[in-house]
Amino acid sequence: MSEYRADFPILNQTVNDEPLVYLDNAATAQKPRAVVQAITNYYYHDNANVHRGVHTLAERATQEFEAVRDKVAKFINAPSREEIVYTKGTTEGLNWVAASYGSTHVKAGDEIVISYLEHHSNLVPWQQLAKKTGAILKYIDLLPDGELDLTSARRQITDKTAIVSLTQASNVLGVVNPIKKIAALAHQHGAIMVVDGAQSTPHFKVDVQAMDADFYAFSGHKLMAPTGIGVLWGKSELLADMPPLEFGGEMIDWVQLQKTTFKAAPWKFEGGTQNIAGVIGLGAAIDYLSAIGMDRVQKHEQQLVNYLLPALLEIPGVTVYGPHDPAKHSGVISFNLAGLHPHDVATALDMEGVAVRAGHHCAQPLMEWLKVAATARASLYLYNNLADAQKLVEAIKATKEFFNHGTI
Ligand code: PMP
Repeated sequence: MSEYRADFPILNQTVNDEPLVYLDNAATAQKPRAVVQAITNYYYHDNANVHRGVHTLAERATQEFEAVRDKVAKFINAPSREEIVYTKGTTEGLNWVAASYGSTHVKAGDEIVISYLEHHSNLVPWQQLAKKTGAILKYIDLLPDGELDLTSARRQITDKTAIVSLTQASNVLGVVNPIKKIAALAHQHGAIMVVDGAQSTPHFKVDVQAMDADFYAFSGHKLMAPTGIGVLWGKSELLADMPPLEFGGEMIDWVQLQKTTFKAAPWKFEGGTQNIAGVIGLGAAIDYLSAIGMDRVQKHEQQLVNYLLPALLEIPGVTVYGPHDPAKHSGVISFNLAGLHPHDVATALDMEGVAVRAGHHCAQPLMEWLKVAATARASLYLYNNLADAQKLVEAIKATKEFFNHGTI
């Protein structure tokens, strides 16, 4: 994939006098020229508010804004463009499901089932919903290597379950959950299946119909689009039955002094002026990734994992969390170096030009499950190459030497 590297001007720089090796893609991805250019073009030529004016710019902007709904629908294989709701990101999408669907369909004594793997944005909204409704929040356990424990899933999902919500790919352990199996289990018990697609949509082909999800949320910025734009997909019959959450301009049908009727989904959820440039950037990012092909993206990242995971495991003192079999691992690898705080590891790696994240990764219950306070995390994308992975391995070895004189 080295032919695509030149599309990312940000990668062409030195950090601390070393060539930048960007391995923090699970936090946010870099943007190709095509995305930046699409946003610039929009502001230079077409900028106007959407759905409001009849003048040429307004019509152009509206047409571009609405065309992206079709692109998104195709990208995740949604049956209808009207099931694509623009959001700020995954967090907002999951919060909306909890606040709108949850508060109208969940009652005291119902159960909401998530897992120990979840990012706070697929955990705290359900905790809040449980608190508000008197529902009970339950957790599917993990196997020792971090994979979802299907026996535990079968135990936790029962006829009392109203909602099952899981991440498709972990932002810490690199595991990919068998959503289709869990969705079947949820549906058998009359529950709906909500999927956090933040870490999967950017990296492999997503098919919301094949996995049989009911809601699916993802963020644009992790798939090379700008920050502040994301998507919530939901089955049309569920969206139709959900109250809007933000009231104001453009989401209404007819406003009278004492009552208002609303537009249909998705527009009833999109109150106020939207992130139009963000939507256009999202469309350009989807075009960019689609032209490469998501299967190729996944294959490339898998090849890097096939090198990187065993190479890290070979370094004495390195602990890798999650499965040790590269075939079970996406391009997110969390690790610790014995005797060192992950923040020190990340700072030392930065001195070598290598950008990784250190911390709890917005997954504190998972850190507790792992019995660590924090980890370092390297995460790959299509512009990373073998040299990046090798540099990480060398930089970890150098860090170890520097702090411990090679004694760990
Ligand atoms: N879920 C997962 C698995 C994530 O990795 C993230 C981002 N770190 C989110 C949800 C939240 O995404 P955002 O901050 O873009 O809303």
